[in-house]
Amino acid sequence: MARVGFIGLGIMGRPMAINLIKAGHEVTAFDVFPEAIKPVAEAGATAASSCAEVGSASDIVIIMVQDGPQAETAVAGEGGVLDGSSSGDLIVDMSSIAPGVSKRIGKACDAKGVGFLDAPVSGGEPFAISGDLAIMVGGKADLFETAKPLFDIVGASAVLCGDVGAGNVTKLANQIVVGANIHGLAEALTLATKAGVNPETVFNAIKGGLAGSNVMNAKGPMMFERNFKAGFRIELHYKDINNAMETARELGLPLQVTANLQQVLTSLVEKGYGKEDHSGILHFVEENAGVEVKKF
Ligand code: NAD
Repeated sequence: MARVGFIGLGIMGRPMAINLIKAGHEVTAFDVFPEAIKPVAEAGATAASSCAEVGSASDIVIIMVQDGPQAETAVAGEGGVLDGSSSGDLIVDMSSIAPGVSKRIGKACDAKGVGFLDAPVSGGEPFAISGDLAIMVGGKADLFETAKPLFDIVGASAVLCGDVGAGNVTKLANQIVVGANIHGLAEALTLATKAGVNPETVFNAIKGGLAGSNVMNAKGPMMFERNFKAGFRIELHYKDINNAMETARELGLPLQVTANLQQVLTSLVEKGYGKEDHSGILHFVEENAGVEVKKF
């Protein structure tokens, strides 16, 4: 079995690392926040004191940090994984970051003869705990096959989407569809409430038709029951939509719905809603409408 390194032991990384340990892998783990290492070390991981130490102790290193700057520092910064890796090793960045940054990290790995995949996930903490994440991968097919046994432990599906960066392009596409859906749903339920129709009734009436979706099923009840406990935090969706707009700018691509979503999320983060679930996009619509959505 491959010696696995794991860097970034937050909400997602902690359960993923623990699942790899439970499956029998020898795991060396590191996080810049020492408290985050404890539960993973208690589950059987060897605690490292730097990313480079993880690199030298492992054949495959998984990264699960917040965004591109953290991923780039962890892999290619001073004392990063590459300082400890040997030619032939593999680094798999499962963080959701801008595809352009993935390509840059991939090039730094290439220069040392180290393989690289970008492999962001969808599913959130519950699926990280149950080992059912959906994984979107960019990189070479042979490296995908090398990492596949690990993907099979932390995820329910892993799809090779193209070259390095394609995993994060796919993740950004996912985040645009999800965010636009939540915003539309928030407007629909606000319209119903303002017109005096129970939003729960509207939800039940339309969820089986063309408007129905996984997003509607998950987020509709959160809205009319006013439960905004994350789930997926507004601040993370904001980060993803900023990355989508940065990528669109690099491509010379106008994205109107996404640009609007960026404005909505900027407002919510500035107003202090960043830690709430992204169903809290509802606050933006409600505050403009002067109405509160609630079932009655
Ligand atoms: P988190 O903030 O809970 O965890 C990130 C961890 O990385 C932190 O413990 C931090 O200390 C550590 N870290 C940062 N830089 C580091 C470095 N250089 N070296 C070592 N450790 C470092 O974030 P999370 O919720 O686990 O999310 C991780 C990634 O997964 C993000 O890109 C996020 O967008 C994505 N994601 C999250 C969810 C979710 O529901 N939380 C769902 C899907 C995808």
